[in-house]
Amino acid sequence: MKYTIDHDLHIHTKLSSCSQDPRQTTENILGYALNNGLKTICVTDHYWDETIPGASAWYGPQNTEHIRRSLPLPQAEGVRFLFGCETELRRDLTLGVSPGRFVNLISSLFRPHICTCPILRSRVKRTPPSALCCG
Ligand SMILES: [Zn+2]
Repeated sequence: MKYTIDHDLHIHTKLSSCSQDPRQTTENILGYALNNGLKTICVTDHYWDETIPGASAWYGPQNTEHIRRSLPLPQAEGVRFLFGCETELRRDLTLGVSPGRFVNLISSLFRPHICTCPILRSRVKRTPPSALCCG
C-alpha cells in the first residue's frame, strides 16, 4: 500500500534547543513544504510557559518570548502553516503550558484562527527550500 503524506505537524525551527541548523527558518520550512507537496505544516518548537514553576534547565529558556520569534509565519498559496509548540508533561502531571497563557498567546497573536491543542491555524504564503528537522 502506498501512502501520500501531505502534512508534517511536528517541525522544529532553529529556535528549539534540539536544532543545531541555523538554516531551519520558517521561510526555509515553508519552501520545503512548497517543493515537496506538503499542504499543512506546523512549527512545534519546544516550549515551557514561564508562569509555570519547575521548568527543567533545558526547557526553561524556551519560553513564550523565545518561541514568538518565529512569528509572523511566512505565507504561501496552497500551504497551511500552523503555529504550535511541543511541551513537557512532568511526572507530577504538570503541563508546561497554562490555560491562561495559551489563551493569551492565541488571542494576541492569532485572533482569527481556531486552535486544537497547542496548534494554531494560520495561512501560509511564499518561500525558499530547506530540510525539515524533527527532534
Ligand atoms: Zn519535537
